[in-house]
Amino acid sequence: MRDDAELTIEPRSSSETQQPSADARRDAAGEDANPPRREFKARGSFVERCDGCRLPVLNCLCPYRVTATSDAQVWLLTHPYEHNKPTNTGRLIADVLPLTQTFTWYRTAPEARLLELLADRRYVPFVVFPDDQPDYQHRVVDERAVIGAKQDGFIPVFILIDGTWRQARRIFRKSPYLDGLPVLPLHTDRLTRYRLRKPASASHLCTAEVAAELLRKTGDVTAASVLDDYFDAFNESYAASRFYHKLEKPNAAMQRLLDRRATGSTYA
Ligand SMILES: [Zn+2]
Repeated sequence: MRDDAELTIEPRSSSETQQPSADARRDAAGEDANPPRREFKARGSFVERCDGCRLPVLNCLCPYRVTATSDAQVWLLTHPYEHNKPTNTGRLIADVLPLTQTFTWYRTAPEARLLELLADRRYVPFVVFPDDQPDYQHRVVDERAVIGAKQDGFIPVFILIDGTWRQARRIFRKSPYLDGLPVLPLHTDRLTRYRLRKPASASHLCTAEVAAELLRKTGDVTAASVLDDYFDAFNESYAASRFYHKLEKPNAAMQRLLDRRATGSTYA
């Protein structure tokens, strides 16, 4: 595996790892199923968080929450550990694009709703994953397949595996219902702007960044820009709160989001 492979995932950071529930530990797959040997208190456990956005109240994200529409949809296949992490960025996609579907991944049984949607002929789903292994090269497509699906009247869907790199690879390999789907790698020169977890490489984009890039490359330019700005607002707000720093005025991305909220103006 290339170290600079484009990831669809967020790198692991011990500083933000939360204690999963006992159920999550039992249900989660394989190597992650072993309960931790000792209690772990996540940093920020005692920070007062907003009920709406789960960020520290010092720099709440709620004023910047806006929605957008897109031709393509995103379905998140989320590792059970990821749901409870306030630094998770998959949820930002669902905030901006209300049609986003979020599924919890379990090794033993996929969610029935996911199987139903995969069988629905209105959708053309793509598994977003690096094309760095030889055994599935015959399934690899590029953005033209997404644009083609749109032109044929279908709804393209980006299935994003939301977890650490190790979790994502396992999910990709251990989910038979994904085996027949085309694999869409993201090739981009963009570097991550994510400041809340330390990536193994700056080319490892987090989940929200991956979604924004895919939307942009396949024609959903406005949705991509809104998601990018919302991610930027999240990133900056959260990072500042870690240093107990109150942001005094919105940055450029935040201001665009406020304008969109106030006027409904588009980014076009
Ligand atoms: Zn909030």
